[in-house]
Amino acid sequence: MTIAPLSYAPAPESVRPTLKSEYGLFIGGRFVEPKSGKTFRTINPATEEALATVSDAGEADVARAVDAARKALPKWSKTRPAERAKILFRIARRIQERSRELAVLESMNGGKPIKESRDEDLPLVAQHFFHHAGWCDKLDYAFAGAKPQPVGVCGQIIPWNFPLLMAAWKLAPALACGNTCVLKPAETTPLTALMLAEILQECGLPDGVVNIVTGGPDAGRAITALAAKGRIDKIAFTGSTEVGKAIARTLAGSGVKLTLELGGKSPNIVFADAALDQAVEGVVSGIWFNQGHVCCAGSRLFVEESIHEDFIDRLRNRMRSLRVGDPLDKNTDVGAINSKAQLATIQRYLKAGSDEGAAKFEVDCALPKKGFWCRPCIFTGVQPSHTIAREEIFGPVLSVMTFRTPEEAVQRANNTTYGLSAGVWTEKAARALEMSNRLNAGVVWLNTFNRFDASAPFGGYKESGFGREGGRQGLSAYVKLGGGR
Ligand code: NAD
Repeated sequence: MTIAPLSYAPAPESVRPTLKSEYGLFIGGRFVEPKSGKTFRTINPATEEALATVSDAGEADVARAVDAARKALPKWSKTRPAERAKILFRIARRIQERSRELAVLESMNGGKPIKESRDEDLPLVAQHFFHHAGWCDKLDYAFAGAKPQPVGVCGQIIPWNFPLLMAAWKLAPALACGNTCVLKPAETTPLTALMLAEILQECGLPDGVVNIVTGGPDAGRAITALAAKGRIDKIAFTGSTEVGKAIARTLAGSGVKLTLELGGKSPNIVFADAALDQAVEGVVSGIWFNQGHVCCAGSRLFVEESIHEDFIDRLRNRMRSLRVGDPLDKNTDVGAINSKAQLATIQRYLKAGSDEGAAKFEVDCALPKKGFWCRPCIFTGVQPSHTIAREEIFGPVLSVMTFRTPEEAVQRANNTTYGLSAGVWTEKAARALEMSNRLNAGVVWLNTFNRFDASAPFGGYKESGFGREGGRQGLSAYVKLGGGR
């Protein structure tokens, strides 16, 4: 049975964030002009309209931010833990108070649907600050007998897919442990980090404890170069595997503490005994959440051969009801692609999928005239050797394959250079547990997908990186134990 999509009246978000036309760099507790003299325009990818002009930090700017963080370190690292907690709780509450505005800005600058930034990103951002505020005065219990000490100045480089959430994942544990930070947002999505800077000021975070340098890869390289020279004590990077490897090479042998959260090509495995309609929802959220711009996206679907046809029929039906369009419409399921460059990358993969012989099915919907858009699509008849089965696309593209036995499912799922996440759909508890033990992934979701929690460690194996963020495990990246590294 084919389900016709219901037509909905537009439900545009009415809140508009208060934006400045120009932003300096946030260094030493205030916004300053960049010494580089360079700026760039940041746009709304759904409309291509400019939102603000942002500073493009050069080497001297990054060095200045690092100096500010170094200067702030002695006092912040000695601040009473309960006092640090008070400030982090205040930040968490202020984020909640301004969450609507932040959510709208996140959608305007990044292209994600407002229902996701409002109901997923922002609650998690606040939760990360609340969770880590609670750790400030309990570090001696988290690392019992190991005398945890702050690592020092942390250089933190983040991507564009969850801009504010990635900033929270980096800043909250670092601050809870008494470190100071230099954070670099991604070049296409700097605005919510700059609004966060205003919140940090409002909440009385001491000057220089967090510094935010906007810019592109050069600013990121300047951060890692200063780390290699011993001026930064820890680097936390979230982004592509390619850049993660370059950073690892730069820092090899330097003794700088490093965590890398990199790419993924995660399997979502559906057994014949699963609740199929529920699994369809999990597959939809696994690949079309945030337009597929998700490191742990379930971009490889493995369906047990006996239900393949039925399952793909159900999935196609469900796809027909996905609403693609204005990220600020509350009914939108799939928003805009984050940038023109990312759209070009996705289009190259779409061509490779068809050229290599897979069959494409895409949602038949009208797309807005302006902005960067890609229809959600699936490829069936995919072989493990196909490019779209091996490489991270980071877009709304699902590669479907089949398996006959649990053993084959494990082998196929693990046949990847990545190891970030996996999903298993089955009603059999024993099978679920067996699969979760055998899948090489940092997180395995059972009968659900893309669930996050500040208390649960997140991170990868193999080319998905190393180190964990969240929970007690995530704290360990930001402390020296027993006086050592
Ligand atoms: P990217 O690696 O191109 O950029 C990430 C950040 O690094 C940006 O701020 C960028 O300016 C900076 N950068 C670029 N080149 C640099 C260099 N040579 N040295 C230092 N910094 C540099 O990645 P992206 O396209 O922004 O993000 C998408 C990637 O991020 C995907 O591969 C995705 O899987 C990954 N990601 C991983 C996680 C995770 O938790 N594992 C989470 C989100 C995104």
